[in-house]
Amino acid sequence: MAKLHDLLKLQHKKLLRERKGTVGVLWRNFVRTVNETLWQEESKREQLERTADFNAREITKRNSHIQAIFETFPDIFFVVSPRGEIAEANGAALEEMGRPVGYWQGKTLAEFPNTEIGRRFQDGLERARNTQTTATLEFAFMVAGRLAFYEARLRPTDNNQTLVLVRDITARKVALEALKASEERYALAARAANDGLWDWNLPSNRIYFSPRWKSLLGHTDGEIENHPNAWWERIHPDDVELVKQAFTHLGEIGKDTLEIEYRIRHRDNSFRWVETRGIAVRDAAGTAYRIVGSQTDITPRKEAEERLRHEGFHDKVTGLANRSLFMDRLTNVLDRVKRQPGYLISVIYIDLDRFSSVNERVGHEPANRLLEAVGARLRSFARVGDTVARLGDDEFAILLDGIPNDRAAVVFADRMRELIASPCDVGPEEITVTASLGITLNNPDSSSAETLLNEAESAMQRAKQAGKNCQELFSRENYSRLVSKLRIETELRRAAERGELELFYQPIFNIPTARLIRLEALIRWNHPQRGMVSPLEFIPIAEETGLILNVGEWVINAVCEQARAWHDAGRGPVGIAINVSPRQFQQHNVLTQFGTALTKISAYGFGLELEITEGAAMHDVDQSVKVLRSLREMGVHISIDDFGVGYSSLSCLRLFPLNTLKIDRGFVQGVPKVKDNTAITNAIIGIAHSLGLSVVAEGVETEEQLAFLRDQGVEEAQGYLLGRPMPAKDISPLLPLKT
Ligand code: C2E
Ligand code: MG
Ligand code: MG
Repeated sequence: MAKLHDLLKLQHKKLLRERKGTVGVLWRNFVRTVNETLWQEESKREQLERTADFNAREITKRNSHIQAIFETFPDIFFVVSPRGEIAEANGAALEEMGRPVGYWQGKTLAEFPNTEIGRRFQDGLERARNTQTTATLEFAFMVAGRLAFYEARLRPTDNNQTLVLVRDITARKVALEALKASEERYALAARAANDGLWDWNLPSNRIYFSPRWKSLLGHTDGEIENHPNAWWERIHPDDVELVKQAFTHLGEIGKDTLEIEYRIRHRDNSFRWVETRGIAVRDAAGTAYRIVGSQTDITPRKEAEERLRHEGFHDKVTGLANRSLFMDRLTNVLDRVKRQPGYLISVIYIDLDRFSSVNERVGHEPANRLLEAVGARLRSFARVGDTVARLGDDEFAILLDGIPNDRAAVVFADRMRELIASPCDVGPEEITVTASLGITLNNPDSSSAETLLNEAESAMQRAKQAGKNCQELFSRENYSRLVSKLRIETELRRAAERGELELFYQPIFNIPTARLIRLEALIRWNHPQRGMVSPLEFIPIAEETGLILNVGEWVINAVCEQARAWHDAGRGPVGIAINVSPRQFQQHNVLTQFGTALTKISAYGFGLELEITEGAAMHDVDQSVKVLRSLREMGVHISIDDFGVGYSSLSCLRLFPLNTLKIDRGFVQGVPKVKDNTAITNAIIGIAHSLGLSVVAEGVETEEQLAFLRDQGVEEAQGYLLGRPMPAKDISPLLPLKT
């Protein structure tokens, strides 16, 4: 049996002592097995003990390696605890930043390397933790009197710590900057052939100007001193500020280049436009110590630009300012005026009279020369600060900047008008053209350039209406009238097609018989916003603008339609009177128009009557007589409306083939108490009767008036007492039934 294991040997001996005598084979085998097992276990233990010993030595060795790497690492390295405190930091590199390594132990990362940058570190830390990825940041820090650039990386670990690595990247940054600067300098050099170069040494305040720099200004090499003043004193006074500012900003961090355009004095005393580019060269601490750059003559480009600008703001034919330049100037002047209470300016709007017929007569070219001549005259008379513009075809405007009072503007305009009206020699013949002028002055309400120009234009329109070759001073009342007139005109144009027009009818009674014998058709305008608009308001405007012809036609048609409707309803024959305005009456087809109406209306059993005013009939007596005669012959009943307010010559009245005189409401109102009214009413009745005409009294409102009129032998009456103007459906029951 192999050597017994020590432990087993002890047990074996003890057993042998107790059991003296026999030892069985079985027992021996058992002991052998146990012995072998024990030996095996023993050798395993020894082996294990040897390995453990080795591992412990290995760990110590590796730890010291890591420590050495950590200590000598060129980057700054932190371990930051979950609470944000710096738990471990490495040495040398960190010490460069001004504090010993130990200082940071237990400080928070938010304090590194100072609280300002620390705030960014804190942000980075949060970012890294929230996203569980590496966060990076860059910062600059003064290290031993030089500006160093750093890049930091923050990486979260599994155990809630964060590793922070800070690397000095100054060398990389400087190399990049140097590359950029050398590229700029190369670009400058490449341009040296055409451009002047300059190189300004800031500490010595000396500046080098290349020969080309000097020759661009007409100087030879020796003629300009190498001092910045030689440059500054040549700059145009208006541009000095701009250049100064550009150079001041150049010194600031991040502003390394400048690019400016300005004017500089040439040797011949003219000013040249130049473009200057510059770049600052900095020392290691970032302070600019040198500025180098180029200078290019850009006068031709500037002149081309100016030409384009001039063309954009000037009229080709006359060379005067165009509308946009005029408005621009006017706006500027108004801005200034706002700060100077009491300062007066005036806008004069000039429109040549009948220019289009001049154009047709003499042809395009001479007409253009005429415009040119007018422009030149206006300009010659205007003062230096005034603006003369051609606004359009034959329209000009003058802005008088600064006048003592409105009289001055009127006198000025008067003089202008005379100047324009003197004959012009523009080709085959001498042409004389006159102009209508509108004048306006600024006031606290005329806030915008548009308002002022509109005011001047509307005054000019009034001058045109007043017979041309004259001038009008703008007045606010006229203007608001004009505006409301324009509004009514536009709206009235659409009123018929929109169904806003309606006819009312007012009954006229025979006084002795008290029978309804005729109706007067009176127009109504149901305005969608303003409600019922009185014909007294819109008929004069319609008359003025010519719209009355459309309105008149609408009335005639509406009356015919209504006659048909009454006829169909079995209502009987009365006369229907239509009011005819002067313009309508003078229209060439007046006979055809009323002839047709008469045919229609009489087919329905009604009579057609026309009411015209004295003025309309008197306008062209011969023509009126002819027209009225024809109408009478056709069977149209004719009344003179509002008799007594117009002027009419009794001898003419005699010539007109009339049926009736309508005494104006104004006279009827006063009877019988007002003596004058009563006298006139009596006189009209007398005239009418002596001419064989019947009389209608308008506007009868009281029984007293009616009784008086009856006593005076007046045949017919119309008025609120007897019946107001009313819609057709209300009139219908009053009409006699046809038999
Ligand atoms: P007009 O032809 O003299 O018509 C009479 C005007 O006197 C009407 O005014 C009528 O409503 C009003 N009137 C009648 N009786 C009385 C009364 O007792 N008291 C008072 N205070 N007023 C009374 P309306 O309808 O406002 O018309 C005004 C003027 O408009 C008319 O005067 C006429 O000149 C014109 N007009 C009306 N319709 C037309 C039309 O269809 N064509 C034309 N061209 N002019 C029209
Ligand atoms: Mg009438
Ligand atoms: Mg009347």
